[in-house]
Amino acid sequence: MVISSGGGGNFSCVLLVLYFCLFYQSLSLALAAASSSSEIISRFQQYLQINTAHPNPNYYEAADFILSQAKSLSLESHTLEFVKAKPVVVLKWPGTNPKLPSILLNSHTDVVPSEPHKWGSQDMKCVGLQYLEAIRKLKNSGFHPLRTVYLSFVPDEEIGGHDGAEKLADSDYFKKMNVGIVLDEGLASPNEYYRIFYAERCPWWLVIKASGAPGHGAKLYENTAMENLLKSIENVRRFRAAQFDLVKAGLKAEGQVISVNMVFLKAGTPSPTGFVMNLQPSEAEAGFDIRVPPTTDPAYLERRIAEEWAPASRNMTYEFKQKGSVYDKFGKPILTADDSSNPWWALLEGAVKKVNGKLGKPEIFPASTDARFFPR
Ligand SMILES: [Zn+2]
Repeated sequence: MVISSGGGGNFSCVLLVLYFCLFYQSLSLALAAASSSSEIISRFQQYLQINTAHPNPNYYEAADFILSQAKSLSLESHTLEFVKAKPVVVLKWPGTNPKLPSILLNSHTDVVPSEPHKWGSQDMKCVGLQYLEAIRKLKNSGFHPLRTVYLSFVPDEEIGGHDGAEKLADSDYFKKMNVGIVLDEGLASPNEYYRIFYAERCPWWLVIKASGAPGHGAKLYENTAMENLLKSIENVRRFRAAQFDLVKAGLKAEGQVISVNMVFLKAGTPSPTGFVMNLQPSEAEAGFDIRVPPTTDPAYLERRIAEEWAPASRNMTYEFKQKGSVYDKFGKPILTADDSSNPWWALLEGAVKKVNGKLGKPEIFPASTDARFFPR
């Protein structure tokens, strides 16, 4: 994501976030050439075996493991505890020209709770380990980076990132790092193409509420809360279907459309055996998880919500439980340029070509990640 007001060709004034998913298999093959693949796998297993699943992630153990890796790689390390028991570990590989903006490789240490027999590693310990193994390989070959390379291992991404990446991004420590580019998580590639994401959709969590006169269950009358809510739900459903049709027809990628999914319905008058069956309630609510790509006009969606999904004319109100902005602090959509106007882009494209890789069409990440905290 570009957050710069400077000229496109100037590296020093561009802070950019890319979400880049390394094609794991090809990387592990390349790594195997430098170091025994079984050693790499065993380090990976060690990291995986540390239980950092919510709700009780063992962050200190993960931090200790990363610090031991840093030591074996002779990297400088700092453990920052912005919030108690939630360590952020930052590793530093000094560049030969430390005055240049640095490179930050971010990964989160926490994982979602899962059924043990279905455990995977894509999100995203595999990426954190790939960073470390790539540095191991480069160090062994005698490579010295021109720019300083930082690695951050942050907690809490899976529960919003506010005590992890957000605290780091807002800190004086981060300012001193003078970061020019951040690479964060992407999605695994199912084929030989490297997937790259240049933006992400913004979450809007919307609750709409209908009010109306309560009444007997046998009576037909106008403007009941249930009837008004159902009209809105039908409206939202049609909008959802139209957006989904664009994806199904191959006209747009998943990240390019506004997705809307209903996540709760709340209505009815509770009784000891369930719900009162002969009473039409005076209130009814529905909640929606909406994801807005930075390529759309959010004002258009807001108008739609106010005029069609929760119109005052049907006694409806709405509120946002969360409403991320698709704009940066300069009022520009949060997007990383994926063309020659962006010097980092050409470098990345060149690096993939150099290893005979194929770069997929740049995509918008369908959900949100810690990357959103850095360009500001
Ligand atoms: Zn993740």
